[in-house]
Amino acid sequence: MLRHLTISGLTAKLARRECSAREALQACLDHLAEVDGQVHAFMSHDAADALAQADAADRDLAAGITHAQKPLLGVPIALKDLLAHRGQPLNCSSKIFGNYRSPYDATVVEKLKAAGAVVFGRLNMDEFAMGSSTETSAFQTTLNPWDLTRIPGGSSGGCAASLAANMAFGTIGSDTGGSIRQPAALCGVVGVKPTYGLVSRYGVTAFASSLDQVGPFGKDVRDAALLTQVLAGHDPRDSTSIPRPVPEYLAALVPDGGPRPLKGLRLGLAKEYGVGGLDPDVDAAMQAAVKQFQALGAEVVEVSLPHSEYAAATYYIIAPAEASANLARFDGIRYGARVNGKDPAELYAKTRGAGFGAEVKRRIILGTYVLSSGYYDAYYLRAQKVRTLIRQDFLKAFETVDAILTPTTPTAAFKVGEKSDDPLQMYLSDIFTISCNLAGICGISVPSGFTKAIASAPRLPIGLQLLGRPFGEETMFRLAHAYEQSTPWHLERSPLA
Ligand code: GLN
Repeated sequence: MLRHLTISGLTAKLARRECSAREALQACLDHLAEVDGQVHAFMSHDAADALAQADAADRDLAAGITHAQKPLLGVPIALKDLLAHRGQPLNCSSKIFGNYRSPYDATVVEKLKAAGAVVFGRLNMDEFAMGSSTETSAFQTTLNPWDLTRIPGGSSGGCAASLAANMAFGTIGSDTGGSIRQPAALCGVVGVKPTYGLVSRYGVTAFASSLDQVGPFGKDVRDAALLTQVLAGHDPRDSTSIPRPVPEYLAALVPDGGPRPLKGLRLGLAKEYGVGGLDPDVDAAMQAAVKQFQALGAEVVEVSLPHSEYAAATYYIIAPAEASANLARFDGIRYGARVNGKDPAELYAKTRGAGFGAEVKRRIILGTYVLSSGYYDAYYLRAQKVRTLIRQDFLKAFETVDAILTPTTPTAAFKVGEKSDDPLQMYLSDIFTISCNLAGICGISVPSGFTKAIASAPRLPIGLQLLGRPFGEETMFRLAHAYEQSTPWHLERSPLA
């Protein structure tokens, strides 16, 4: 069936004119109508606008435009609800935007369109990307297509769940502390957090600007590498975007099946990540992955990241601090929802009181506190110093290894409601993913196995994380692809696919 294809499978079919872009989009829309009433991945979608884009792609294909010219020509791609898409609603799954519609395209949306993609749909997320389960969305909780009693991860839960259920061919999310990699792992798809500065943040609603990075979800590593290729590149409209040429990521993927294709590459296992009682299924998948990498010719050695025990504490000072500043703009004056008051102060307070949910308020309060005079040195400044130490740990490790191997998450998908009353437990879902953002390096999650089915749960996907050098995406993709192609995990699809 059309919707089961990867992007590379779909573009091959489109190129041979065995299907049309309209049919590919229709396959997504039909399946969305069939299963999203259960999954709740989409906030909205504009079928008329998407069909017009698909018809334009079909005209391009008829005119002989190739996928070498437009690599995503005719491919339906859906967006996390924080990327500006001209004419479409943007809510960040928050009530504070009211009836806002984006007046312009984010740079990444411009790039997707220029590559020929059919950009459709707004995907549910944790409110302002603050969360690990989509439960902080002000509108709906997305459910995991592998088990509808469980969360899909977050904050880009809609991205991962919609892809795992084949409602899109690729999706674009954002990752501030794990929000792409963690849901990718819990939904059994591939998710990429590019190096800070590789992908433009222009038109992406800011959460924590020094940590936020846009990245793709793909059904396999090849698709994820292709999408990264399209998204990457310098943008003068984002001052933190780095002016450097983007390598050819697909060329870095080794041909399938060669003997010991990873010979000469070294992988690190952080000794600090093994301790503390990993979940047995996650641990078993990790051990098997290490053996697999060795069989592929890679050398696996121990490395040390001595400051990793401070990563969560550091992140939960820096991210809320930046969020408290970024979210100050939502004051009910220029755009979004407004609750009137007798004077401006009351208007602000009422608007923000009604517009933000509990988790967002918690972060703003925490962030304002750590930045306030008297506490700035003790918290914010100290966290910045520890952040530098965490980055130095990684740079030191990368002197001896090409990438670091970790589980993506401490456990498989948890139950809806299981952690929503316990913010600390929720924050610990990101224990393996947040250092990557603090260090500004790149990371990917690839499917690496399943939990054993038990009476209370079916088998659930598990993810493996590879962390690469700053701008080391080529090697990261090469490692991830060789592993993926030598294991069966990425071929399994959720029951709702
Ligand atoms: N779960 C983390 C948080 O709540 C990370 C979220 C993200 O990467 N956007 O902040």
